[in-house]
Amino acid sequence: YATSSDSLLAGLNNKQLEAVTLPNQSALILAGAGSGKTRVLTTRIAWLIQTGQISPNGLLAVTFTNKAAKEMLTRLTTMLPINTRGMWVGTFHGLCNRLLRAHHREALLPATFQILDTADQLSAIKRVMKLMNVDDEKFPPKQVQGYINSCKDEGMRAHSVDAYDPHSQKLREIFEEYDKQCQREGVADFAELLLRCYELLERDANIRQHYQNRFKYVLVDEFQDTNRLQYQWLKLLAGHAQGNQRNCIFAVGDDDQSIYAFRGARVGNMRDFEQDFAIENIVKLEQNYRSHSNILDAANAIITHNRNRLGKNLWTSAGAGEPVRVYQAYNDIDEANFIVEEIQSLHRDGVDLSDIAMLYRSNAQSRVIEHALFSVGLPYRVYGGLRFFERAEIKHALAYMRLMANPNDDTALLRVINFPTRGIGARSLEQLQEVARQNDTSLWEAALLNTGKIGSFVTLIKQMQEESIGISLPEVAELATTLSGLKTFYQGEKEGEDRIANLEELVSAATAFMNQDLGLRIEQSDVDENGEIVQSLLTQFLGHASLEAGEHQADVGRDALQLMTVHAAKGLEFKAVFISGLEEGLCPHEQSLYEANGLEEERRLMYVAVTRARERLYLSHAQSRMLHGQVRYGIPSRFLDEIPEELLKRLNAKPVAKPFFQTASSSSEQKSAMPWKIGQQVGHGKFGQGVVVSYEGNADDLRIQINFGKEGMKWLALEYAKLEAL
Ligand code: ATP
Ligand code: MG
Repeated sequence: YATSSDSLLAGLNNKQLEAVTLPNQSALILAGAGSGKTRVLTTRIAWLIQTGQISPNGLLAVTFTNKAAKEMLTRLTTMLPINTRGMWVGTFHGLCNRLLRAHHREALLPATFQILDTADQLSAIKRVMKLMNVDDEKFPPKQVQGYINSCKDEGMRAHSVDAYDPHSQKLREIFEEYDKQCQREGVADFAELLLRCYELLERDANIRQHYQNRFKYVLVDEFQDTNRLQYQWLKLLAGHAQGNQRNCIFAVGDDDQSIYAFRGARVGNMRDFEQDFAIENIVKLEQNYRSHSNILDAANAIITHNRNRLGKNLWTSAGAGEPVRVYQAYNDIDEANFIVEEIQSLHRDGVDLSDIAMLYRSNAQSRVIEHALFSVGLPYRVYGGLRFFERAEIKHALAYMRLMANPNDDTALLRVINFPTRGIGARSLEQLQEVARQNDTSLWEAALLNTGKIGSFVTLIKQMQEESIGISLPEVAELATTLSGLKTFYQGEKEGEDRIANLEELVSAATAFMNQDLGLRIEQSDVDENGEIVQSLLTQFLGHASLEAGEHQADVGRDALQLMTVHAAKGLEFKAVFISGLEEGLCPHEQSLYEANGLEEERRLMYVAVTRARERLYLSHAQSRMLHGQVRYGIPSRFLDEIPEELLKRLNAKPVAKPFFQTASSSSEQKSAMPWKIGQQVGHGKFGQGVVVSYEGNADDLRIQINFGKEGMKWLALEYAKLEAL
């Protein structure tokens, strides 16, 4: 441990030192990737505690992912001999959840309120829409979900949303009904956690003052990705709106790494923060400690193509290091095989698999790689893919556990009322829903009036509730998987073993949860005004399952390759990084090209990806790939062109040409009239270089579709288009 503040601060550069030891005032640390922002933030916490300026309970720190929060707590325990349990270090969602649990009455929530994850929320929205007879073609539920969440992210309830035309009025109405339904059922979606917490603090002066007095220091990592509501929440906690009383906010961020605009993130928060908190000087960190300069220069070269930047210079003293490797594959399978071979060879050279990351733009891309890894038996871990807690059988078991905790949770009830099947048909369910609607009650309360098959479900849940009294959390999990009939059901199913194994894994997860010091758990002092501990271990566990999905995969602790989307890789670093699928349409993603500032956001995403690498970086693209059941042909991403050639090492000068690509639209008799091959590279006077993607029509009326990358997809009439072979 650091025995004096000197040893704690040793090794920091001057700017970092300045940031860590700033006097008690609000501050903004604006700095590029790998410059030590997170390290500065963590060291500041340790320094504040060690120098006696604050007790561990007197500060609140927000990070972006649960993984980052845990890492921060682990780092703290290596710096100081303190018990981090009970410290308020977590994600916005996690911290709001905790605050709401402690004050559930004031927040008008039941003590056992459950959290709806994204999929649960969608099904809840579908239910509301059905009851309201809303046409789901005119109002696709996913869009409605996006609408509701973005309203909440902006801090708005249905009654405060403007709606002038019938379409938006209907949306607003659904929003309102959905919120009522959640309230009735005692559930809260992710965005609700924040909004509810914000409203509570705003409304209740006692609670607000309590936390304002407590959290003299508020520290925020990845500040560039906060949304409007999160910023308002921070301001409220800091006592900003109330004038005289002011706590300090220490924010660190990088505008070049803002990649969550699609979830309402506002880089503008940085400018607002500067003004609102009268930040006098922004500390800039310019030395990068993470990457060799070839990697850093590549990242810098890419990001300079963005216009709207606050501007920073990053340098490193680490030396050039290895060139950035570029591999051009002829298809996705070739790409996957190449990556797997390289990983094997790195591993043979002594690199830990867990120090190697494989990054991609969208989840669907992981399948081919997973397959290749699986066939050679390389262990890997997927973050943010199909997460453990999102698997169907786990959600079923959790639904039983949720009903034990709170039977009014309609989403949980609907999930399992007839699963495993117990002869409750659609008709009886509709009747049940009608009774609930007429009496304005939850389905459970309506079911209590029922006899027959629904009655036997009620009896089952009551029995589970009784048996769960006084037993441990893993035993409750066990109960949910057995008494419910889930295990027996899967035993009778083909390929049910996997599911049963997962159900057993749930019991292990519950055991781990019970034994592990997760740091984020509620401390004993979080009791309500009657001295009642407001959160049972069961409720905590269920909250954890919703919030931390994906962090309890079976192979935790084993050395495994890390697979994740670029979004999930934020803040992390690895010795070697592979970025795959660098093709126009994938990265930058085709959708982004239709959105304002979409391309700049994609470029920031690329910047985040590249800056994850410490020593070795591989960039790969494929001439064709199978995605969403279709073969796509792509030209190399423009981001590759943005990197100076001298930083690169091309691993294969000329791609291995594979003669044939098949598409659904090419039939054999048309082929004779078609002078170009699908997949062939062609040049056009105006649009530049492109790839032939498909064609239609006959001999003199042939139209040919070409992907021109930056210029987009074009249909050209063959007769007039002057194309040359490349
Ligand atoms: P990102 O923008 O990606 O979140 P960051 O700015 O938060 O990056 P850190 O993760 O804190 O950067 O630091 C990057 C790496 O550099 C870490 O491995 C960290 O330990 C190391 N590092 C930071 N400062 C120093 C220093 N003064 N001396 C040595 N290593 C350092
Ligand atoms: Mg960081």
